[in-house]
Amino acid sequence: MRELISKTFHRLKVNSVISDRVGPDLKPSLNKLPREQHGISRQHISNAALRVMSQLHDHGHQAFLVGGGVRDLLLGGHPKDFDVATDATPEQIKALFRNSRIIGRRFKIVHVRFGRETIEVTTFRGSHDTVESSQKEVHRKNQQSARTSEGMLLRDNVYGTLEEDAVRRDFTINALYYTSEDYAVYDYTNGLQDLSDRVIRIIGDPETRYREDPVRMLRAVRFAAKLDFDIADDTAEPIYRLASSLRDIPAARMFEEVLKLFMAGYAVETYQLMREFGLFQPLFPETEHHLNTDSDSSLINNALHNTDLRIQADKPVTPAFIFAALLWPAVSHRVQQLKYEGVGEIAAVHQAAQEVIYRQQQFTAIPKRFGIPMREIWELQFRLPYRGGHRAAQLMEGRRFRAAYDFLLLREQSGEQTDGLGQWWTDYQVADEQQREVMCQSVPGHKKRRRRRSTRRNQQHRDVH
Ligand code: ATP
Ligand code: MG
Repeated sequence: MRELISKTFHRLKVNSVISDRVGPDLKPSLNKLPREQHGISRQHISNAALRVMSQLHDHGHQAFLVGGGVRDLLLGGHPKDFDVATDATPEQIKALFRNSRIIGRRFKIVHVRFGRETIEVTTFRGSHDTVESSQKEVHRKNQQSARTSEGMLLRDNVYGTLEEDAVRRDFTINALYYTSEDYAVYDYTNGLQDLSDRVIRIIGDPETRYREDPVRMLRAVRFAAKLDFDIADDTAEPIYRLASSLRDIPAARMFEEVLKLFMAGYAVETYQLMREFGLFQPLFPETEHHLNTDSDSSLINNALHNTDLRIQADKPVTPAFIFAALLWPAVSHRVQQLKYEGVGEIAAVHQAAQEVIYRQQQFTAIPKRFGIPMREIWELQFRLPYRGGHRAAQLMEGRRFRAAYDFLLLREQSGEQTDGLGQWWTDYQVADEQQREVMCQSVPGHKKRRRRRSTRRNQQHRDVH
């Protein structure tokens, strides 16, 4: 993405008539870039998105592509999905598309499906404190009152006009609109200039916008990392101060955000920025505590680096592995503590995993489908050393072996002492039957125990007869 930006940005000619910066007074003025002045081509837009727009146009509605789709098209990249904004209400949208459904608790969104692609269609959003407009009056009766389960302000749920929708969006570069009606780009917030300057700038008063929805702070660092943009000074300034307000966000939404932060291919940079801005602490307080006291950050850095490489290589990544790494400092510390208190190793691992997961779930949910494999990865770290006799073969057949082995290598790579265990398992996997047997017989501590036991058994056998 970053290379694409630098290669293709020259194609974007920013209109010389630049509107004033949208400040706290939220008075947007339109800068419209006609089709010959921007590099967006219909060919790069999915058919599904084009069909949604034209269907809405045909029924007398406005319809625009907006958000990441337009931003990434202008940067010359390939958007991963397309969002459409319209003046049609959710019910009107639903009536126009057979394969659609209304979703959302925070505000109603319509998902329109075309085969495997889903286009997210949202009604223009307004706010209580912007200037009244006649169009908004029409929509006002459709106003929603649900909110706070997602930690957002009520005023996000009022329908509005295109201009109002623009200033309700998070960053100027995410508030650019494109429509297949006239093929122009509509810019109310100076987003084109910021795109050209490679700047993440929040729309409106930064502190107010972060208080309305603290997740915007995470989004700022996510986009800065992904696009390699700078965060504007006034956009960056309140973050450190307000970072702890992320605690108000429900754990389920936070989990989704963590996936976006760490599974988009730019996890290393994102993590670094999160720590600089104090945004990691409210999400993973126990990990942050251990990183500041008794562990270093290399295991997490290495895990995130590997994740980025896997994503670049189109290999699958699982949240279970990422969470296993993020919470490992807390788990391994707690296991040591419990063992010191006299708890047996296996019991200690179970207890530590349970406690750490329980505490973490106050901050980010961990759905069972990831929590269970995460625990298995941890537990196997303590079982992989016991590999004598038939155990190695049994361990290797286990469904979680591969992930646990990768995790072991990660620990070694990050400087943990494991007495060459990772190398042993690497060798074991490529060895033939005979070599494997020799390896298993020579595992320290293994033979002796077996001999003693068999001697005793033989003894009993003899005694009976
Ligand atoms: P990505 O490439 O990650 O999909 P995106 O910008 O499309 O980036 P989405 O989460 O898909 O991000 O959101 C689509 C658009 O909705 C954003 O570009 C932005 O305009 C708006 N938006 C999303 N979340 C917020 C928020 N918390 N506050 C204000 N506007 C938001
Ligand atoms: Mg998007």
